[in-house]
Formats: sequence, C-alpha cells, structure tokens
Amino acid sequence: MQLTQDPHRRFNALTREWVLVSPHRALRPWQGAVEKILADHQPRYDPTCYLCPGNSRAGGVHNPAYKNTFVFDNDFAALKPDTHPDRLDIDGKGLLVAEGEPGTCRVMCFSPRHDLTLSTMETADIAEVVRTWTAQFRELGMRPDINHVQIFENRGAMMGASNPHPHCQIWATHSLPEAPARELAAQAEYHRQKSGCLLCDYVALEYSQKERIVCQSDSFAAIVPFWAIWPFELLICSRRHLASLTDLSADEQSQLADILKQVTSTYDRVFDIPFPYSMGFHQAPTDNTAHLEWHFHAHFYPPLLRSATVRKFMVGFEMLGTPQRDITPETAAERLRSLCARK
Ligand SMILES: [Zn+2]
Ligand SMILES: [Zn+2]
Ligand SMILES: [Zn+2]
Repeated sequence: MQLTQDPHRRFNALTREWVLVSPHRALRPWQGAVEKILADHQPRYDPTCYLCPGNSRAGGVHNPAYKNTFVFDNDFAALKPDTHPDRLDIDGKGLLVAEGEPGTCRVMCFSPRHDLTLSTMETADIAEVVRTWTAQFRELGMRPDINHVQIFENRGAMMGASNPHPHCQIWATHSLPEAPARELAAQAEYHRQKSGCLLCDYVALEYSQKERIVCQSDSFAAIVPFWAIWPFELLICSRRHLASLTDLSADEQSQLADILKQVTSTYDRVFDIPFPYSMGFHQAPTDNTAHLEWHFHAHFYPPLLRSATVRKFMVGFEMLGTPQRDITPETAAERLRSLCARK
C-alpha cells in the first residue's frame, strides 16, 4: 500500500479515530481556477457593529472606548453559571440521561479596529491578545465550578461568524467537552504506556520527516497532521512540553502571536481571500489535577477545498461512516509551505 496513491485509512493518535484518504481522486487535474472574490472592504469603525468601541449592544449596554482587547459576558450566553450540575436518569435504565451544565460564555474582541483580522494585525498586538487569553484562562479556570476553558474563533460567514469584527469566544464549562475528553484519554494512556508525551513524540517525528511541517519558530510548529480531516487543517504545537497558556514565558507569548500571524496570513494566500476557519486551543482541564500528559496545542479547521467558494462538506459517508479526504495531508502541507513567507 502506498500512501501517495492507494485508498487507505489513517489513525488519529490524538482522538483514536480514523480518517479515510483517497489520494487517487486528487490526481484529477487541479481545478484551482482561483475565483477571485472581491474582498469586501470593512471600515475601521462601523457604527452598526455591536463590538466596536463605544457602540451599544443588546439590552442597551455600551462598550467602553477600549484600546486593545475587550472581554464581556455574552449577551445571549449558551451557559449560565447558576445552573446545578445534577444528573437525571429519567427512565432509570440509562436511556434518557441528562446533566445540568453550569458555565460562562464570553466574547473577546482582539482589537478596536473593525477592519483587522489576526492575519493583518501587528504581531505585538496579537501578543496582547495572547496575554488576554491567558488572563481569561487563569481567571475562569480557577473557579471551582469550571473544569474546562475553551477558547475558539469562528472566522468568516461560511463558518457562521455573524460579525467581521475580529473576535473570539470563550466557553467555560463544568464538564470536559467531547473532543478534549477523547484527547485526554489518548494522551493519558500514551503517558502510562510509554512514560512520555504523545505530542512531544509526534512533533519530534514530524521534525525528523519534515514533510508535514508548514511553518515554525523556536517555540512552535504548525503541522498538517498525518491524520488531518479538513483539506488545509493545521495543528500548532508548542515545542516545549507545557499544558496551557499560563505556562508560557513572555517570549513564548510573543512567539505564539508570531506563529498565529504566519498561519493566518498563509491561509489568506491560498485562495487570495480572507480564509474562513474555526480555530481553538486545547489546554489541560482546570480540574485541580496535575495533567502531566497534556500538551498545549491549537487546531485550525478551515472548510475550503478547491477555491474561495468550493468547500468540503461532512455529509454522506462522512456523516454515517468516517471522515474522508482526497488531497493528502503531505500535498496540502507542500502547498501551504510554498505560501508561507517564513518556513
Ligand atoms: Zn466592529
Ligand atoms: Zn509534550
Ligand atoms: Zn486537540
């Protein structure tokens, strides 16, 4: 079996799930006629935007005239802190089970400027974003009712982002959500069996092979993982073993800002448009336990496949069976690497 031409399954060591790869289908001629979408030019300030400084939000609350980042509790939060985490087994046989989920949802603006994105912000300003993420993670993670803090950004209307103002969300929950729970189980088992860290070993392997590394710095590497599902998926890993944002040194905070700028600006060059994605950090649970097995990382899941408008859908076999991709992670990495200003 050859990974470059034969249909095969790849194992995701981090989630212990499989992805189907069909490289022969990507040998069809590249239909990469890049459809230029006219960049829709945003103003520096939009009087109708509920995230711009000084504007009013739902319920008539006014945003302050903030200068860097700005965080507030989501006006339409999916979670409420005063919920009781009690469990109901309605039928007594485990078929109708529910559990209260206490939590907090926040919105964080990256910049007062309505027209910027992580890819166009100055690295020093992204470092300020990293410091705010760190403070939020520390504050929310210290709460006894909070065991996990998920920081994520949906960029672009295709990903459901309703507002172009550069911002992310922070959802802090009592329970450990599904994706990090799967990764925790895999990392903990690896740690027990091999007395080492799954992602430290994986990153070392990627550095020895080099084919899937897109860009890097002294402290971080951006890799199209061997088991990537989305065409241009990326995994950003710290090169040092650490569990969360709060473990970063001041220099590493700047280096994280730098790799985020490299990745997002590389993405924008793929189809010459602001590249849509969902991204987020996976950090150790905040459950008052030392998680020596956990390795800090971020995932970027961009949906675009062939052009600025042709996206991948997770339907059919993927919805009912297992995720599938045509273009191999190695080919995607090569393409992204060629577009990265610093490799
Ligand atoms: Zn705005
Ligand atoms: Zn590690
Ligand atoms: Zn993860």
